[in-house]
Amino acid sequence: MSALAASPAPRRGSGRITSWHLLLNNRLATGGLVLLGLILLLIVLVPILPLPDPDATAPVNRLQPVLTAGHLLGTDQLGRDILSRLLWGTRVSIAVGFAATLIAAGIGSAIGIIAGYAGGRTDNAMMRGIDMLMAFPYILLALAIVAALGPGLMNALYAIALVNIPFFARNVRGVTLGYAHSEFVDAARLSGKGHLSVILTEVLPNVMPVIVITMSTTAGWMILETAGLSFLGLGAQPPQADLGSMLGEGRAQLFTAPHVSVVPGAMIFLIVISLNVLGDGIRDVLDPRLRSGALARPAPVTEVAPDRTAPANTAEGACLAIEKLETGFRRGKEIIPAVRDVSLHVKPGECLGLIGESGSGKSVTALSVMGLVASPPGVIRNGAVYLGNDDVLSMPETRLIAKRGSRLAYVFQDPLTTLHPMYPVGRQVEEAIAAHQQVRAAERREKAVALLEKVGIPDARERSVHYPHQLSGGQRQRVGIAMALANDPEIIIADEPTTALDVTVQARILELLRDLQREQGMALLFITHDFGIVSEFCDRVAVMKDGEIVETGKTREVLANPQHPYTKRLIACVPELGTGERFLDRVAGLFAGGKAEVAQ
Ligand code: ADP
Ligand code: MG
Repeated sequence: MSALAASPAPRRGSGRITSWHLLLNNRLATGGLVLLGLILLLIVLVPILPLPDPDATAPVNRLQPVLTAGHLLGTDQLGRDILSRLLWGTRVSIAVGFAATLIAAGIGSAIGIIAGYAGGRTDNAMMRGIDMLMAFPYILLALAIVAALGPGLMNALYAIALVNIPFFARNVRGVTLGYAHSEFVDAARLSGKGHLSVILTEVLPNVMPVIVITMSTTAGWMILETAGLSFLGLGAQPPQADLGSMLGEGRAQLFTAPHVSVVPGAMIFLIVISLNVLGDGIRDVLDPRLRSGALARPAPVTEVAPDRTAPANTAEGACLAIEKLETGFRRGKEIIPAVRDVSLHVKPGECLGLIGESGSGKSVTALSVMGLVASPPGVIRNGAVYLGNDDVLSMPETRLIAKRGSRLAYVFQDPLTTLHPMYPVGRQVEEAIAAHQQVRAAERREKAVALLEKVGIPDARERSVHYPHQLSGGQRQRVGIAMALANDPEIIIADEPTTALDVTVQARILELLRDLQREQGMALLFITHDFGIVSEFCDRVAVMKDGEIVETGKTREVLANPQHPYTKRLIACVPELGTGERFLDRVAGLFAGGKAEVAQ
């Protein structure tokens, strides 16, 4: 309770600190940031560093090797100091690369937003123009532009900015399309905002992350392109140094004095690689879903704390036993517990109801059983899970994965999001079979149809080629149940399987689950927030509140004599027909009473 109540506290820190944390958590990105910072610091300080004139030639000192006195990185074919030329040249290359990035981002994003927002003919005309730019090999196009404008650093900059406009325009248009007709933009329009204002205040902030990400990933590329043009003699003109021209000049001495070209080459490599890894890090920071850890490439199995205490299995004959489970979520260095000290067991053929309000930790408990809590940020801190006599949490990863769906299967809440929208439902059931059984394709198809029939889908053979969107909500949930049954599991965990359905369909799905459970002797862990369902459906019930089990026992006994005030409240929440307004009074009254009792 206390930990959950305290959980909003760390959020109070400013958003910037967490962004920094996130960026610095990514070691590669931190490395890139440090490296790039050092390079930037050096080139900013170049004018005041005690360096020789980068353009001063001294033919007597030509091609001095690295670490010569007075010339740390040696000299080139004209006797110029390579270190000085390198730093001045890096300054030029980075300035040109960044300037080109800004120009391309500005123009390209503007085109993308306008095309995506306006749609129709404007979109068509603008995008065909962009397509024409993209149809040329970009380096040829840059060459042609420089040839037309004349060689020189500024012209190389324009050429490179121009050829990169399409990348920004395409990316930004794609994202803008998604936002242009979303409800919040429509709402802004309805409130009387003009187009420009809608674009600037509603659309731009949403596409900004994409622009920044594209910038961070193309900046390195543009520095390379600038170097390429200079290498060909079309960018920086002698005697001015930039990294590309230094490379080009060093080419003639590649074998006699390799350091002349290796040094600028290494610098280009360092800049580009640091920009790229930093770009990756920036992308992670800017995406709020990544920030919450949702898309942070979760590991295949939930992390288990190495120092967890693993209590012994106290439930005799249970097919699933959870002992003192504690699962939490990492936030920075802290782990905020979501469930604590949860102990449950289910015997073969038994139905255990796990009931609690939304956010009480039911799903986290259920997902912890098979190590399905996304990690990061999830961590199993303490406790043990026994499947029969096997300790699940200490199983090797491959064994645990093999048990998912075969010994224990899940039915999830929302069948529309758990079914793959691009495959026919029959094929998805087949996939569930194929995951654990080696059967020939024809046999598998028959099995899938039989399963669909078993869960009561009419005309199962025809229906099996339909896509999820062609089925009703109840039918989709039946498919979900068929997939769970595919490998004759011993236990099914059903996580609010009927919450997304209307009452009549809900009744039929529940009936189906109960019949299947009795018929096959499966154990069922049924998660719900509705005591009405538990009372009709489950042999035993465990009541969960704020991440802890507050009461557990035979359903009939709990119903007749609830001990915990929260259980009383849950029971009172089951409406009876005809009670009308008094129902709310009763719940509210109990709520106040419950509070008083807790306070005592
Ligand atoms: P429910 O009982 O409704 O199924 P959950 O088990 O999904 O509730 O959630 C329990 C608690 O764990 C909630 O306080 C929720 O905020 C927290 N939680 C769930 N998933 C995450 C996550 N990925 N990151 C941080 N906290 C989470
Ligand atoms: Mg849930």
